[in-house]
Amino acid sequence: MGELHRVETIEALRKQVREWRDQGLRIALVPTMGALHAGHISLITLAKKHSERVITSIFVNPTQFGEDEDFSRYPRTQDDDFRKISSAKGDLLYMPDIKTMYPDGFATRVEIDGLSEIMEGAARPGHFHGVTQIVCKLFNQAAPDVAIFGEKDWQQLVILRKMVEDLDMPMRILSAPIARDEYGLALSSRNAYLSKEGLETARKLNQILASSAAEIAKGSASEEICESAKDSLLKIGFEKIDYFECREAHSLKRAFGPRAQKPIRLFVAARLEGVRLLDNFAVS
Ligand code: AMP
Repeated sequence: MGELHRVETIEALRKQVREWRDQGLRIALVPTMGALHAGHISLITLAKKHSERVITSIFVNPTQFGEDEDFSRYPRTQDDDFRKISSAKGDLLYMPDIKTMYPDGFATRVEIDGLSEIMEGAARPGHFHGVTQIVCKLFNQAAPDVAIFGEKDWQQLVILRKMVEDLDMPMRILSAPIARDEYGLALSSRNAYLSKEGLETARKLNQILASSAAEIAKGSASEEICESAKDSLLKIGFEKIDYFECREAHSLKRAFGPRAQKPIRLFVAARLEGVRLLDNFAVS
């Protein structure tokens, strides 16, 4: 389409979507909270392979942050984000304000039972309630054919797929592999909070994940491997391990022993210098 346009209202978004629909074009949505890095851009690149027009949304969603989390200091880098989406040949940037997303009196909840209370949900109560609420609204506002999410937030991906399936939303969710730096650290807007030493330690997280995955794939008991991985992380300087778990990739049930349904993945969230790092890795 050429130049990147920016809209802020639902009306302007829908007008553009209608025009594209009238031309028979397929539309993708890439929801983000901004502070874009190469991981986000890889979602836009994937979106372009599956659609003719790509909408990127930026909204730092307060309802998915806990009270003691970094909502107010979450990085906001609008001009830079605009440039990056433009270079990636995104077609539309949707940046609704808080009143558009949560008008006075907003009262609706979207809860996905079972999947939302474990791992991230246990460590961040209410987090997925905020995610499903905002993503459901974005889907209804943009009515895309496909929406793209990163495998970095694997549990989020599983939950959103369930929401689309359970609520008969007429669209598909596609996932993009985790974008990592040259040392294997999963890219995250929050990595910017780490000191130089912290960054070096953070880069060991994916090595421990990979070696743990290899041990489990060879037949070692997943519970023992996860416990020893937690010890290793604490030894190298992580302050707290929220979880380090081995689960079935699609059901997110705990994966114990040979009867576990493949594919299986390892999931970790750990804190370093007050920064919460999240990663996951395929076992088999
Ligand atoms: P966020 O802005 O952090 O909410 O992320 C927006 C989207 O980008 C989500 O679908 C994330 O899973 C995805 N994402 C964030 N970091 C990465 C990464 N390193 N690799 C792939 N996708 C990512």
